[in-house]
Amino acid sequence: MNAFTVDVEDWYQTNDFNFPVSRWEQFEDRVEESTLTLLGLLSRYRVRATFFILGAVAQKHPSLIRRIAAEGHEIACHGGYHRLLTEMNAGQFREEIREAKGRIEDAAGVEVRFFRAPSWTIGPANYDMLQILEEEGFAVDSSIQPFRTPLSGVAGAPVKPFYPIIAGKTLRILEFPSTVLRIGGMPLPFSGGLYLRAMPYFVIRWALRQVGRTRAGMVYVHPWEVDQGQPRLRASPLIRFAHYYHLDRTIGKLDRLLQDFRFAPLGEVIRDQSYEAVELI
Ligand SMILES: [Zn+2]
Repeated sequence: MNAFTVDVEDWYQTNDFNFPVSRWEQFEDRVEESTLTLLGLLSRYRVRATFFILGAVAQKHPSLIRRIAAEGHEIACHGGYHRLLTEMNAGQFREEIREAKGRIEDAAGVEVRFFRAPSWTIGPANYDMLQILEEEGFAVDSSIQPFRTPLSGVAGAPVKPFYPIIAGKTLRILEFPSTVLRIGGMPLPFSGGLYLRAMPYFVIRWALRQVGRTRAGMVYVHPWEVDQGQPRLRASPLIRFAHYYHLDRTIGKLDRLLQDFRFAPLGEVIRDQSYEAVELI
């Protein structure tokens, strides 16, 4: 059984463009329609997923959040304004997640206990954020990417879910890292975002099957990745590649994954499993 997860944010809220929140109002809002596309796909396969929702989206589209919950999906938090955790201090982070959690819970009518950081920004510089998440009522975090990119990630971090030990203390919050396949010590990312869009489907299927021999995998996708009608902005070639490459392939690959694998919300994937504690340094 694998986890299917969706990070609910609009196309202009990603860190690809880094627009300040004060400019968000000027952009065309498309998250409702693109999230409905994903909900439709999941319902065709009768698969329930975990939706990590941005607090700003919950504030603007409460009826969308209610609908996600009503369709049986697990409701989770993706921060407030898609700010990188590495650019926030502990006080700012606590304030932002408290507000976001409240907004999402108000909209959905259910308690929110799962968190994912924008752009996988929990790492050695801010492992104390995990402690804050626990204090703020979160039971599961899915924010550590076990390989390094220019923006985030931790080379050599555990690939299996684990309870973090920080400064000698074992936390009760479970960390479910992004899914990668390690081949001879080298990480092969394939399970979401640009990696999923860029890689041939047969490689994705092979990698997820390899992962499935020892642990549950996790797929992640964003609503804007199924939105081919979104405005095309001028940006650096690298940003344009990361954001726009193969947007036309996302739905087809998800469709095949849903045919070839079994999926459930994260909470069901981890239920009744036991996990080790691992020291983070
Ligand atoms: Zn995000």
